[in-house]
Amino acid sequence: MKNSRPLIGITTRHELDTEKFYLARFYAEAVEAAGGLPVHLPLLPREDFVRGVAGRLRGVLLPGSASDVDPLLYGSEPHRNLKQVHPLRDLTDLLLLEEAESAGLPVLAICYGMQALNVHRGGTLIQDIHSSFPEALQHEQGSPRERDSHTLKIQPDSLLARISDADPLAVNSHHHQALERLGANLRATAWTADGLIEAVEDERPDRWVVGVQWHPELAWESNALSRALFREFVRACEESGEAGDG
Ligand code: MN
Repeated sequence: MKNSRPLIGITTRHELDTEKFYLARFYAEAVEAAGGLPVHLPLLPREDFVRGVAGRLRGVLLPGSASDVDPLLYGSEPHRNLKQVHPLRDLTDLLLLEEAESAGLPVLAICYGMQALNVHRGGTLIQDIHSSFPEALQHEQGSPRERDSHTLKIQPDSLLARISDADPLAVNSHHHQALERLGANLRATAWTADGLIEAVEDERPDRWVVGVQWHPELAWESNALSRALFREFVRACEESGEAGDG
């Protein structure tokens, strides 16, 4: 019997002042608790590295970042409220998404990760929610960071609908950007009351690619939807490994 715990690569963050790659412990803890084998990946945006490491993985998790995706990557000039751009993270995530696509690896993309996923598919971002939509909800809740702060409307025919049983559903919120035009093969599956997109799923039945704008890793112990999301992701990674061996 083969090892059913799938190896799941998690990209890290870049702290510019100290030149460190780092990541909060919660992503790895959530993946491990859901049955996966998490590994942190350095931000080395080189094809031979990313291809080599992706060849050993059975799933990819793109976490949040303290940065915004470079708007030049989706054909926009920088808005005056754009925050820091971290090119090592942008480029590593884009290369990893390319490899995940060609290898058919499941992808769970969180917050910045979901925005990078949309840009990789040719979509665009709202660079600063409150500049474009002054009436939008508060999407930067601050502390306590795991607290549920806004509700979600969920698309009935979706993975999120299948795994959610609470009504109304509520999640945390830590973002000042949002998805604008959706990229190829992505559909929105959750929204806030202000109409912003809070989750996307791949439309193709043979691909498990899910992006969420909230932070399920902060709340996997307290929020049932967040916990179920990690469990479904790890299950998809197990199955993708089996398909690859066949
Ligand atoms: Mn939000």
